[in-house]
Amino acid sequence: MTEPFIDKAKLADLAASFGVLLDETARERFDCYAKLLCEWNEKINLTAITDPDEIVVKHFADSLSVLQAVSPAEGASLIDVGTGAGFPGLALKIARPDLQVTLLDSTKKKLLVLEDIAQKLELDVVLLHKRAEETGRDPLYREQFDFATARAVANLRELAEYCLPFVRVGGRFLAMKSAKTDAELAEAKAAVRLLGGKTAAVHTVTLPQAGERTVIEIEKRSTTPAAYPRPAAKIARFPLK
Ligand code: SAM
Repeated sequence: MTEPFIDKAKLADLAASFGVLLDETARERFDCYAKLLCEWNEKINLTAITDPDEIVVKHFADSLSVLQAVSPAEGASLIDVGTGAGFPGLALKIARPDLQVTLLDSTKKKLLVLEDIAQKLELDVVLLHKRAEETGRDPLYREQFDFATARAVANLRELAEYCLPFVRVGGRFLAMKSAKTDAELAEAKAAVRLLGGKTAAVHTVTLPQAGERTVIEIEKRSTTPAAYPRPAAKIARFPLK
């Protein structure tokens, strides 16, 4: 038997502290994911975090902390916007294989890596090599998801315009942020309302070695007006106020 790459028991304990039970299949998949991430990272710059223990905490446990904030119903749909190497979307799929997960990123090579990893882990995910602001206008994806997630993609005011169009009325947009979010939340308040959202809760999560993190939970209350999302340049130059 080959030595595990990550400390699977530590990850399972951290996940359990968020109320997430990882069975042996999930633990094995996380171990394989970490190995593949490091292998791919030698060819393509995917992450600065390559120490197995740090991958467990800062990528895997951090991603799973979303499940402390919300409990998606069996078979719920989720789109991870700007997923990069699969965080949090692919990690959530490993923990909850019943979820219908779509991973979206505008960088082709990251999607190719995700395709390889998802295939090796035998996980059925939809991979979209597209820009969020264009895909959010496409009726195939607009207001089709129970959840949209995003980590480390943009500030909340811009991120809301990228993500809220994907969420059906009654669904949730979950923005993963560092500890201090008061100013970002205040700055994004008008944009969130204009796009049909309302901040439902701000969840604080404590990760060992990584400190406090925040999951901002925004409920979709009404449909997003047809004018949004705007082109990326406009979103950046004229953020909603
Ligand atoms: N979410 C991952 C994580 O936390 O490790 C990746 C974060 S990385 C800093 C930001 C990612 O968002 C990149 O992979 C980038 O290609 C993607 N991205 C940025 N703007 C985007 C857009 N408008 N549409 C789709 N993807 C975008």
